[in-house]
Amino acid sequence: MTIAKAFLNKNRKKRLEQGHPWVFPGEIEKIEGEPQGGDIIHIVNHVGHFLAQGFYNPLSQLIIRVVSYSEVEVDESLFQTKIEQAWKRRKWLADVTSCRVVHGEADFLPGLIIDKYEDVIVVQILSLGIELRRQWVYDAITKIFNPRGIYERSDVPVRRLEGLEEREGFVSEPFDTKVTVRENGLSILVDVAEGQKTGYFFDQRENRAALKPLMTGWGTRHGITVDGEGYPRDAKGKVIKNPFWDGAEVLDCFSHTGSFMLHACHYGAKKVTCLDISEKAVDMARANALLNGFLHRTEFVAANAFDYLREQVKEKKLWDIVILDPPAFAKNRQAIEGAVRGYKEINLQGMKLVRNGGILVTASCSHHLSAARFVDMLQDAAIDAHKVLRLVEFRRAGSDHPVLLGSEETDYLKFAMYEVFDR
Ligand code: SAH
Repeated sequence: MTIAKAFLNKNRKKRLEQGHPWVFPGEIEKIEGEPQGGDIIHIVNHVGHFLAQGFYNPLSQLIIRVVSYSEVEVDESLFQTKIEQAWKRRKWLADVTSCRVVHGEADFLPGLIIDKYEDVIVVQILSLGIELRRQWVYDAITKIFNPRGIYERSDVPVRRLEGLEEREGFVSEPFDTKVTVRENGLSILVDVAEGQKTGYFFDQRENRAALKPLMTGWGTRHGITVDGEGYPRDAKGKVIKNPFWDGAEVLDCFSHTGSFMLHACHYGAKKVTCLDISEKAVDMARANALLNGFLHRTEFVAANAFDYLREQVKEKKLWDIVILDPPAFAKNRQAIEGAVRGYKEINLQGMKLVRNGGILVTASCSHHLSAARFVDMLQDAAIDAHKVLRLVEFRRAGSDHPVLLGSEETDYLKFAMYEVFDR
């Protein structure tokens, strides 16, 4: 079978050469051959010089998605090699038993997500090219991981942009979809069938670990002193019995599985309030607090964060640390203005709830919101809230979510920790 060729325009922007993994319809001068949707096509420049090869899908704005910069045959063994390499890289950079194994274009498997939850594998397929070759993916997974089960979470609307229906369910024989993953010394119960996305968010693993130094040192700030014998005493001289007297009071908003709450407790927080709009999520977070022995230091609220934050401001409630990890408010570029207003509102209210000198931990996973725009939004919120922010650390997604330099889309996660001062 001869492979079709897509000749790119002479005057296009050289994005492909800069490592960007997609070709858009307007960049193609002509196509030689008769490729079908999902076929491999060679990408050549205007004089026919080979640049890369990728999956062709005429129904999609991402008309070609790069699979390789060489002319290697794209077959089952290439898939197996790519998945093996991706797994090797994860094991090299982070010693973990649960993580993202394949992160789509950044692992040169465009539109393929593979997450490993201990002995269970979850797959999400977002491109026609992978869709048609999914048996290769399942076979490679079986060979490499020999998992207890494989589950597919292709229940996402973006598949429609590739002309695909949503799909979800067991790939292997049915199995118990509840899995307890280990992360930074904690046990976290995840349901790969019920949870958000593929069940859990591995991308913030390192960010959650970065909370560690923030969680203690608060008791002494609030006037507790330690006497000569090592007993903590309050302002009136009374001995404090709570072993977590030096820990932070934390508000964890958009808590889902409660992973931030768990880390906060693990690192010494005194009390964590966990909030999510979904009752199911709140139940999961509570189960996770119980599993780790943190129930007595946690409380749970099922509410809309927009209402809850405003109410707490009205009631003049304050926390040492407020964590905001909202879902992606901007699902597409057109929605960005509204999304920025949403982010600003929760950050503005969130900052107001931080004690003077306390910490705002804030994230955004929307790739339509650049890091620069994210910081601008925070500055706007700080001005309106009469706060001055001082950066502790700005972080991105963890090492199992690689970023291609030429592709802003793969650099989606912003995570910042700021001290918040009254102005
Ligand atoms: N921090 C979480 C991930 C957040 S995912 C973790 O570590 O696992 C986003 C969560 O926000 C989802 O659980 C969703 O139910 C919740 N959510 C979405 N809109 C919300 C709203 N308006 N108020 C409160 N929670 C909301």
